[in-house]
Amino acid sequence: MRKPLLRIPYTDILPPPLIIPASASTLAGAVAALRTFFAAPTPDHMPSSKTVVLTGAGLSVASGLADYRGVKGTYRVNKTYRPIYYHEFLSSHEARKRYWARSFLGWSSLHKAAPNLGHFAVRDLGNLGLVQNVITQNVDSFHSQAHPRIPTLELHGYLRSTVCTTCRSEFSRDEFQAELARLNPRWAALLQEAIESGALDRGETDEARFKGLRSNPDGDVDLPDAPYTTFRYPPCPKCLERPPVGADGLKYDVRVDGEGAWKLPSTAGILKPAVVMFGENIASHVKHNAEKAVDQAGKLLVLGTSLATYSAWRIAKRAKDRGMPIAIINMGGVRGEEQFFTDLDPNQQGDRAVRTGLSTDEILPLLVSELRQTMPDNSPISSPGGPLENSGVFKEMLS
Ligand SMILES: [Zn+2]
Repeated sequence: MRKPLLRIPYTDILPPPLIIPASASTLAGAVAALRTFFAAPTPDHMPSSKTVVLTGAGLSVASGLADYRGVKGTYRVNKTYRPIYYHEFLSSHEARKRYWARSFLGWSSLHKAAPNLGHFAVRDLGNLGLVQNVITQNVDSFHSQAHPRIPTLELHGYLRSTVCTTCRSEFSRDEFQAELARLNPRWAALLQEAIESGALDRGETDEARFKGLRSNPDGDVDLPDAPYTTFRYPPCPKCLERPPVGADGLKYDVRVDGEGAWKLPSTAGILKPAVVMFGENIASHVKHNAEKAVDQAGKLLVLGTSLATYSAWRIAKRAKDRGMPIAIINMGGVRGEEQFFTDLDPNQQGDRAVRTGLSTDEILPLLVSELRQTMPDNSPISSPGGPLENSGVFKEMLS
């Protein structure tokens, strides 16, 4: 039997980034190497000359979202941060109260955030005919907002929906947020106060120390000594209305309190975010589609990820094993990256490999503008991409 693919955090410190070719240490050098990467013919046996893009948290940092790692590859956001594990979430009502309380506070920041120039550059690379697919580890939905025409596979799911752990129905996270506010009026007042003070806007400013709030990746906020145990959350409305029948032929039990919050001893109808939690398996069709996206492409471009998560690392490894040219733009080290750059001709200038530790939001817009001077742009309407456009797209997608 094939091993299920679990999402687990990787906390080792990573080595400093490799620089390939040597000229990729400067912005101009890195852009030139990437132009060579895209222009070079793909190895003969490849089904396509197009590129599959693999992205991670680093790409969303310019949107104001927290990254898991700093440039030295250490966990930097919040030393006390420990993400919840799937089995804890499933087995503990108290753990779910804590999770949803933190998520309730974090949702508004995520809601305000929007795709940045890096996401729009990926769109532009698609319009130039260079990128055919995106695989992302991010759960913020920015890729589908920035480039709805380029297929995006969300390897670790998405925060925009909740999913029932019993019947697998999905529901809008926005509507769930309104329900959480209704069931937890004092928390809703605290959230309002935090928003008005600007405390949730960015990770490590003075305002962020308001009542000890700390933002974490995955739209989660830390509030030390908060009375999490008073927090209430609603059940799956479908399972509440018609409790499903379990494998033993008995009906599940879904109970709520006077205002409609899930309560013990319910045995079903638990909603979770539609993300792959740590300790949870990645669905086999997602794993399969990720492999297919790699197999149908000719090159791999990795953006803003240390590939610390095994599910992402093995995608890059698959590309390497297929002989695909690989380019990695990530500040800080990448897990086991020397394995992706073996047997390289020391004189190659980017046609086989590029590795730079510069930031995606510096490199990508410049790369696109240089490529546009020599390539036809197939975009339907010429759109520069910027903050104004971003906020419009975001509202549309999340409403
Ligand atoms: Zn359900």
